[in-house]
Amino acid sequence: MAFFINNKEFSDQEEFIRYGRGCATKIPTPIDIMRVDEEITANKTRRKLFSELSIEVRFHHITYGARGLITKTQRIQQIELLNTAYASAGLTFNYSEQEVKFIDNENWYNMGHASASERQAKTSLGADPHKYLNFYTGGLVSGLLGWATFPYDLAGDPVMDGVVMLDESLPGGTAAPYNLGMTAVHEVGHWLGLFHTFQGGCDGIGDQVKDTPAHSSANYGKPEDGKPHNACTIGDYAPIHNYMNYVDDDWMNELTIAQETRIKEQIMMYRTGLLNPANV
Ligand SMILES: [Zn+2]
Repeated sequence: MAFFINNKEFSDQEEFIRYGRGCATKIPTPIDIMRVDEEITANKTRRKLFSELSIEVRFHHITYGARGLITKTQRIQQIELLNTAYASAGLTFNYSEQEVKFIDNENWYNMGHASASERQAKTSLGADPHKYLNFYTGGLVSGLLGWATFPYDLAGDPVMDGVVMLDESLPGGTAAPYNLGMTAVHEVGHWLGLFHTFQGGCDGIGDQVKDTPAHSSANYGKPEDGKPHNACTIGDYAPIHNYMNYVDDDWMNELTIAQETRIKEQIMMYRTGLLNPANV
């Protein structure tokens, strides 16, 4: 059955998932993964991980006429979802309604990943990426739901830091079954340093998280509980509810203990501007 997301037609949901579930976040190279691993390992001996951290979100809603007019209710619901999702990692997200910006710009509204429009928009709109989570919304290139930058990219290209979300993926949007706001939970996961749980498939270079079993490729839809699905190792179960898999919004509810640790390590390594002075 044909599957439509953000004005693009796919032959079915599986094809949309093969296309990347609309997540355009760049795939980390083995060299990136190794470098981050080495840096975190070297850093571990020097620091105690923080227990709690508050992150201020800056919303930049790019509009095109009547499109993209995200409401206060949607912002509140999105922030609540982030808080629920990352509470176990000690993170809380907040925002100020006074800081919310609406910008009407057709080119920016239709931006693609790594496009000139994206760079122009972020250069013009972005708040200090060392201190804030820049959260951009817009219509994006058709077929996409969003993307994010990784913590280890902040130093080299601070302007591009943040998450970019399809406006209709926020709670109350029209991008069903991806309209409950879990795409932002997934993209913020990347922004906090998490890779896809199926990163590297079964070839041994996984997501660097020891309690998310390796699986050969993304799961999608609402996979049945209690089955191994496409886990690489006999006896393992693919993490079908994990935020960093590609399942439907209403199927995502898991952040593992090792993912929580990885988030804290990444923040303490690459996003030290977010930390309270006591943690630095
Ligand atoms: Zn992703």
